[in-house]
Amino acid sequence: MKGEFKRIAEARLAPDKDFIQGLDDILKGADADYEEWVQEENNGRDDIEELIDFLDANNMNEMPIAFHCNNEERADPNEWASAVADWTSDGGKHVDVILHARNIESYYNLEDMREVLLKMIAHETIHFNQYDHMGKEGMASYKSGHQKGTELKAKGGTERDWMRSYLRDKHEIMAYGRDLAVDIADMKNPQEVMRNVEGFKNELPVYQRYRHIFDKNAPQIKALLKYASQYLTDLLKEKEIDDAELNEFKESIKRIIK
Ligand SMILES: [Zn+2]
Repeated sequence: MKGEFKRIAEARLAPDKDFIQGLDDILKGADADYEEWVQEENNGRDDIEELIDFLDANNMNEMPIAFHCNNEERADPNEWASAVADWTSDGGKHVDVILHARNIESYYNLEDMREVLLKMIAHETIHFNQYDHMGKEGMASYKSGHQKGTELKAKGGTERDWMRSYLRDKHEIMAYGRDLAVDIADMKNPQEVMRNVEGFKNELPVYQRYRHIFDKNAPQIKALLKYASQYLTDLLKEKEIDDAELNEFKESIKRIIK
């Protein structure tokens, strides 16, 4: 098991661009149908159950993705969606997307939905790639931090025990490392933020979530920042910042990467 993690930890895995593009196509197709329905059939009122039907109907290529509606209240009123990637020996890879209807109704728009879901799916497809890396055998004996945490809770563990077990999972640290890098890349001064993430904590929800559980100097925080700085280097390359600036950045984050 340890060897497995080590191999994964050696190289960051990229999100699956085709899968993300596939979801984007579903979203755009469903949005057009849904908007027409809302205006013409539902007096301009949102209905997330209906949106789900349009999403399913627009999954033309039968991607392994299922949409669900949650009508219960969420602790966080700004949370629009959750996603869970899964793997089974007979069904293969699969992702469930849950839309939190109460937080979306009367606020829905495609732009926000895209931002939330495409980012979430990028995270889940990193898990897909981790599954591929482990292979069938590795997966058979694999227990995720999510599972371990759930077992802890069944034995009387707290919510915090669950969260700690979940966030310390090396798979999650990698995937959240990319989420953090994307958030940093969207900021005005990404390089500066990366060199001083602690100082920008209040603007970085993923980092905050980790720091809520782990000490500033904990190995999990170090690993998270290492991944984030590597993914950020990739993102900066995509943005085509000039070589000198990129090299200067790489030099300045050596301390974080090592
Ligand atoms: Zn995850």
